[in-house]
Amino acid sequence: MAPNPRPGILDIAPYVGGESELAGFDYVARLASNENPLGPSPKAAQSYAALKDDLHRYPDGGTTELRDAIAKVHDLDAGRIVCGAGSDELISLLVRAYAGPGDEVVYSRHGFLMYPIAATTAGAKAVAAPETDLTADVDRILECVGEATRMVFVANPNNPTGTFLPEGELERLHAGLPDGVLLVIDAAYAEYVEDGAYADGRALVERADNVVMTRTFSKIYGLAALRLGWAYGPANVVDVLNRLRGPFNVSAAAQAAGVAAVRDRDYVQKSVEHNRVWRDWFRQQAGIAGVEALPSVGNFVLLRFDGDARAEAAVAHFKENGVLVRRMASYGLPDCLRVSIGTETDMRMAADALASFAERRT
Ligand code: PMP
Repeated sequence: MAPNPRPGILDIAPYVGGESELAGFDYVARLASNENPLGPSPKAAQSYAALKDDLHRYPDGGTTELRDAIAKVHDLDAGRIVCGAGSDELISLLVRAYAGPGDEVVYSRHGFLMYPIAATTAGAKAVAAPETDLTADVDRILECVGEATRMVFVANPNNPTGTFLPEGELERLHAGLPDGVLLVIDAAYAEYVEDGAYADGRALVERADNVVMTRTFSKIYGLAALRLGWAYGPANVVDVLNRLRGPFNVSAAAQAAGVAAVRDRDYVQKSVEHNRVWRDWFRQQAGIAGVEALPSVGNFVLLRFDGDARAEAAVAHFKENGVLVRRMASYGLPDCLRVSIGTETDMRMAADALASFAERRT
């Protein structure tokens, strides 16, 4: 007889990435996965390439140089950084460590999909807190926190809505949590935010023993292929993550490229500027076409259509015009599409496709 997985595992819908529909395209503006369209820093690519002579060596299991580089750039304590194979791995490890059967994990309704997937995988119940105007709502989140709650996830800024909670709201959320509940602030898109009311959450991490911040090299650093993320937390959480993670969970390639990428601040700045220019331009073009484009502080824009069928038709139209975007039905937003900010060529293609779609009535 075939072995059965633990109860609940077969209820999990597999995470399907935005690139899953690439087959069959000649030229594609790939705007489905919030990557950096400029690619990584050339210095990171060089460090990656230089690794070819050392492929037979194990990586540094302690990610020492990488943690030191991150700590120096961000002015943090290297001893309280843990690196992982993407922030996805760190999210999964945190849930596995702090929640299990009978426990609840609270997240915001249109928050990143990995939170409910990781919670269900660990046997815990994922509880979706309602939002207000597509933005995480601290009061609604706190209303969902009960006896069984072990963790609360907030993506700040949030994917796919592009919204964020200002620092004061994060503090209010933290202050409202009962002792012993872990608050995970997922700041995957932090580098893109230029609004002064935003903070990545490190101040809370420094003050509290129940807050952890996660970050990624997949977005601004353009290293999604290498799978690299990091968490900054209090000593107790860092200790737990270090016990749970695999001994060599971050490849040597990811470490080498990551060190060079995090040090190249000019490249980060250039990427932020590119993103701002083309995000604002694309929103403006959407407005001209008469399509609602929500404000966003991230490297993507959410388009809202007049009904689910229209959103579905828009995805097909983008695709016919060589533009891959992401439908948001799996995030509970069936009338929305997410368009990542690409190169100038990508964005002009996307705007042209949107304009021609808007002219069509069916
Ligand atoms: N958090 C958020 C909010 C995201 O949007 C993503 C990427 N889609 C991740 C985490 C995961 O990033 P990675 O595993 O590539 O570091």
